Amino acid sequence: MAGGRTVALIVAAGSGSRAGGPPKQYRRIAGKAVLAHAIDRLSHPGIDEIRVVIGPGQDQSYREALDGRALPSPIVGGSERRTSVRNGLEAIAADNGAARILIHDAARPFLPSQVVDRLLTALVLNEGAVPVLPVVDTLAAANGVLGDTAPREGLVRVQTPQAFRFDPILAAHRHWSGGEATDDAQIARAAGLDVATVGGDVALEKITHEEDFARAEAMLAARMTSRTGLGFDVHAFAAGEELWLAGLRIPHDRGLKGHSDADIVLHAVTDALLGAAGEGDIGDHFPPSDPQWRGAASSIFVDHARALIEQRGGRIDHVDVTLICEEPRIGPHRAAMRQSLAAMLRLPDGRISIKATTTERLGFTGRGEGMAAQAIATVRLPEEES
Ligand code: MG
Repeated sequence: MAGGRTVALIVAAGSGSRAGGPPKQYRRIAGKAVLAHAIDRLSHPGIDEIRVVIGPGQDQSYREALDGRALPSPIVGGSERRTSVRNGLEAIAADNGAARILIHDAARPFLPSQVVDRLLTALVLNEGAVPVLPVVDTLAAANGVLGDTAPREGLVRVQTPQAFRFDPILAAHRHWSGGEATDDAQIARAAGLDVATVGGDVALEKITHEEDFARAEAMLAARMTSRTGLGFDVHAFAAGEELWLAGLRIPHDRGLKGHSDADIVLHAVTDALLGAAGEGDIGDHFPPSDPQWRGAASSIFVDHARALIEQRGGRIDHVDVTLICEEPRIGPHRAAMRQSLAAMLRLPDGRISIKATTTERLGFTGRGEGMAAQAIATVRLPEEES
């Protein structure tokens, strides 16, 4: 179907949590909020905009879950799912409208892109389309004891996202008078819309119980790939400069000269992290030509690289640093430097290593003209979606 925008509407307005703690859409799986997983999986060439419906008072949780993702302002939902969807549809109508809408539940975050393909294709000929899976278990009545089995032929399990042409589903919601509805296809059908079925996916199972979180965590961990990144940095000694290494001021008669605080350890670590993530180098993110980084504490570079990895659902497994200099002696500061770097990376000390070597008085480090640092980082990142 040509022309017009396709908007995805994620309903994330639930306030409940079976296990206590935050509502499930704001809980984290593999370091990333359930809602953020849902948002990332809706990044699809056929979808022009993503809007999110949140519960009243959830603005702070929403911002934290987004981790810097740029989305239009959230829409505030109602006490029932139906009113939340209605609020979302009305807000989209009041903004720029849409030609097509995919209505999705944040609690089904692991959407395969092929399901979106199937839904958008079905919308060419139908007013609505929903992903379904066959019922494979035996269905039976039960009330403490097992009763009669029920026929499962012709029955399906209905998932989300549910896709509709926008104007008909908005009209259907406005005319609905049937009380709470379990999904939007029910509201669409009551208004006489034809709703096609397309193949759903087991990855779309709803995350409800505690064991669902554990299963999702294990599934994502199994799909992580390990990557290694290398960093290297050099700065020259100069009189009148402070010496900063791994975020600590080290007493010495000379310091390192540079645009920022010239912390070679943190610069090498930043480049190692960016390298593992395939995110360019420190100069791409913090151009030396930009005066705002003059004299900057280099911890902001490390924070930035760590945040980039976390936003992608990744984890830093290990960082190993080698300092190359004749002096100062690194040994007395090694434990403190390790702790400082570990705190910056939010890792236990055991996953950080700081080593030092001289170059036997050879080369610029041997002559005491400057210092160098090498870093290597091991990072796990979710497999790229194909
Ligand atoms: Mg540097």
